[in-house]
Amino acid sequence: MDRRSPMSIPAPARSPRISPRCSPCSSPATARRFKDDIEAMPRNIDKLLYTDLLPFDITGGPETREFLNRVADISTDFVEKTFDRGCKILDFHQPEQLKEVLDLEIPADPLPLDQLLHDCRDALKYQVKTGHPRFMNQLSCGLEVISLGGEWLTAAANINMFTYEIAPVFILMEQATMRHMRKVIGYKNGDSIMAPGGSVSNLYAALAARHKMFPEYKEKGLLALKGQLVMFTSVHSHYSLKGAAASMGLGTDNLVLVPVDDKGRMIPAELDRLIEEQKSKGNLPFFVCATAGTTVMGAFDPLNPIADICEKHKLWFHVDAAWGGGVLLSRNTKHKMAGVERSNSLTWNPHKLMGVLLQCSTVHFQEDGLLISCNQMCADYLFQQDKPYDVTYDTGDKVIQCGRHNDIFKFWLLWRSKGDSGFEKHIDHLFDMTAYLVEKLKTNNDKFELLNDEPELTNVCFWYVPYRLRTMKPGPERHKLLGEVQPILKGRMMTAGSLMIGYQPLDHHPNFFRNIISSQAVCRDDIDFMIVEMDRLGYDL
Ligand SMILES: *Cc1c(COP(=O)(O)O)cnc(C)c1O
Repeated sequence: MDRRSPMSIPAPARSPRISPRCSPCSSPATARRFKDDIEAMPRNIDKLLYTDLLPFDITGGPETREFLNRVADISTDFVEKTFDRGCKILDFHQPEQLKEVLDLEIPADPLPLDQLLHDCRDALKYQVKTGHPRFMNQLSCGLEVISLGGEWLTAAANINMFTYEIAPVFILMEQATMRHMRKVIGYKNGDSIMAPGGSVSNLYAALAARHKMFPEYKEKGLLALKGQLVMFTSVHSHYSLKGAAASMGLGTDNLVLVPVDDKGRMIPAELDRLIEEQKSKGNLPFFVCATAGTTVMGAFDPLNPIADICEKHKLWFHVDAAWGGGVLLSRNTKHKMAGVERSNSLTWNPHKLMGVLLQCSTVHFQEDGLLISCNQMCADYLFQQDKPYDVTYDTGDKVIQCGRHNDIFKFWLLWRSKGDSGFEKHIDHLFDMTAYLVEKLKTNNDKFELLNDEPELTNVCFWYVPYRLRTMKPGPERHKLLGEVQPILKGRMMTAGSLMIGYQPLDHHPNFFRNIISSQAVCRDDIDFMIVEMDRLGYDL
């Protein structure tokens, strides 16, 4: 192939004439007019319409700038309120009430800019502030300001990540960041891709595993298989594994759920036994998923013993570290994932422990070349092989999507701002706050009961005990009543708008709270507040 750089291609004799209407900077006269306009005061923009802004009105530069500055101000006001402990986390309305206070109908004709700015303000006004220091409801909490800056610019650049042709800078940025992550994981070479969420990342891993074992499946489908494929994961794993089994045509019955110990960790001997059992039935085990940081309890499956079993049976070893992957960034916590470098693939969501803005998910492979060989379809209109650059930079054919959103800029910029050492501090802070919370719950053990005394991650699972149940003797009846109280307390928190913590049942346990610390905004005072506030709201239940 001719590897001439585009620079050496001779320029056409005369450049085509460009209409100044299409490109305001293309002639000195229009460039000057543009500059004067920026310096001029914009007209009052309130009653203007979208047609008064760029590109509809080519002289609308100052008005466009004014409009976007006002949108940025609304956004910044929201950020300030998010971190103001005097502001509520949410102003809760029932759906019917909310429909009354918001005008959500699409109008027949254009609305003026002041109405649109009003709409922007309202949209945020009734929105939950997930970056509030007392929002502990989700695995992705917090609002990293640097990451937000990256997201603003990502929206402005508005590119699609399928080819180097369209996204040269962001493709290289993604490659550099993914390479850095693989180094942290301990993969020597490998390949990675950013996917729309951990669930899809897990699906990519299972697809690659099947492709590795049955390369003909891609063309021949089910007939290429020599028997029933079976996957294994723990009973506490994320439900996306069931989704993968269903969407890959295995059926959820062929996702075997391995029992866990009392801390929620997969029991390796049980895995081994269940693999043997499937083999003896004539089925084909091919994929094992260990979880590093389970969604509810935050448990880490023991990776080295599971890797040994996968080696013994020659199975693909995937680690779902969507939630826990961040522990690899600190010398104090990375031992929790000892053995991770022995895995074939790993899912890691930077939008969880690392605090990157939603959505940001990555999946990594030990072996290079599998993603492309598994998913490539060679669409001629996007992935021409005779482009004027090295087409291996076109990532679009590695995925089952066509276009891909740019999720890298907000992530890369955040990592640049902190460096590796800053991210180590970031992770350590989350674990320090968690240790403080556990200590507080233990010293208030008349009001709070821990499900697990020694959480492995920042998930802290506990019951709040209202006054009337404090003296009741332990047993199934009290257990049941405790389970009924937690959702009522959650309702009171939402109405008060002062605190948000998620709850759920698990195995034989009735509803309990699962507090998550994954925001840098959380400090000791917030934890002290939480203890007092839950008792204030729940004492009489
Ligand atoms: C959150 C989570 C997922 C799913 O990630 P999404 O980005 O929500 O699709 C998968 N596995 C685990 C362990 C998780 O915690």
